[in-house]
Amino acid sequence: MKKLFLFALVIGACRADAQTVDQYLQKIRGNTAELTAFFQQMPKGGDLHNHYTGSVYAETYIDCIVDSNWYVNTNTLKVTKTPGDGATRISDLKTAGEWPTYQEKLLQKWSVKDYNGVSYPCDKQFFETFGNFGIASGVRYDVGLLELKNRAKSENVSYIETMFTGIPNHIAGLDTSYNTKLEQGLADKDEVAIKKILDREYEAVLKKGASAAAEDFNANVAALHKGLHIDDGDFTMRYQNYVARTQQPADVFKNLILCFVSADKSPLIVGVNIVAPENDDVSMRDYWLHMRMFKYLHGKYPNVKYSMHAGELALGMVKPEDMTWHINAAVHTAGANRIGHGVDMPYEHNSYGLLEYMAKNKVAIEINLYSNEFILKVKNDAHPFTLYNEFNVPIVICTDDAGVLRSDLTRQYVLLAKRYKEVKYADIKRFVYNSIDYSFIEEESIKDKIKKQLDDKFASFERDVLAAHSK
Ligand SMILES: [Zn+2]
Repeated sequence: MKKLFLFALVIGACRADAQTVDQYLQKIRGNTAELTAFFQQMPKGGDLHNHYTGSVYAETYIDCIVDSNWYVNTNTLKVTKTPGDGATRISDLKTAGEWPTYQEKLLQKWSVKDYNGVSYPCDKQFFETFGNFGIASGVRYDVGLLELKNRAKSENVSYIETMFTGIPNHIAGLDTSYNTKLEQGLADKDEVAIKKILDREYEAVLKKGASAAAEDFNANVAALHKGLHIDDGDFTMRYQNYVARTQQPADVFKNLILCFVSADKSPLIVGVNIVAPENDDVSMRDYWLHMRMFKYLHGKYPNVKYSMHAGELALGMVKPEDMTWHINAAVHTAGANRIGHGVDMPYEHNSYGLLEYMAKNKVAIEINLYSNEFILKVKNDAHPFTLYNEFNVPIVICTDDAGVLRSDLTRQYVLLAKRYKEVKYADIKRFVYNSIDYSFIEEESIKDKIKKQLDDKFASFERDVLAAHSK
């Protein structure tokens, strides 16, 4: 009995004496484990910058290829459905006792696991994983979606807006001159000529069955979503379409049309995005043109919302002058509803004016702290988080690619609290509510329901924190 009493005293002494949750948060700011326990339990609302293929963990893709008993090239680690040069069936690798070795190698190739940070460029290590897991990521969308949902619920996340897949299409036989004409228009910065080509391509893509392709895609997404009971009383998921900015201009535009048509017709597909490395040669060359494409399609589909990866650039990756206009163009020319990353903000032309504009016009910024640290090597006070916060730009905290980065949403909040001491508990709560207010969920009733649930979850969380940490 006496021992028990002493034990209780020791435990009590270790606990922080906090009257409010903010006081407790201030006390644990320097301690990663304490912050992790705190944010793991804290309701986190939504994750609005979430790539499906990069969020599923590599272990899941490996399980899928094992179940399918596909082939692995033991030199290149390329996975194929059929045998070929150097490819060995997974069951044969197992029989030979070699599978654990290849499984480990695949985990390292399909994520940043065990990466030492110096032997290869970080951005390549990151972006190449998507090509490396290739077909494995498309085998079992049911397994992947449920993984994202279950992980979200386990870390008290109510909503995910995921960039799901590209839209498969068979629209072929377009006039091959579109590409060269768009490139010429880009070289001349001739907006009138570009508009004419976009008009022609737009009409052609619609004539060749864009609506049917989009409806077919939408039906598949809806069947998957409903069949898996993704939405339940406590969790909601919505989807964004996307195009890869590294394709040729006419292909970017064709796929972008499909994205907009699809998003316009489906309440589950709530937005459009543009992805792939921003510092890629083609991405850089065509960025100006891509902004005109978004502007054009906004004119056709004014109800479709879009978030755009913009300013995911760091000094050293590209020339300094290339860091002065991408966020500006995404906001002012393309009319983005939200900006993804926005890391080059301090270099943007008239950055103060741009920040003021974003704040005034409620263009939210999706902050991805760990992703920026890994891919761009931008962290702490080199990251523009404080700038966005000072100018009252609406902030949401997101993961980007938790699977490839072997991370989660909790970790993003831990980094936020640890690095930016000016952020109070009330600010963090505001970011959480922002993640629902600035989501692209179409039904106001669903947003209201999630926010009401957040009120209850926060009340319960705060009670638990104070009960555990007050004397
Ligand atoms: Zn991203």
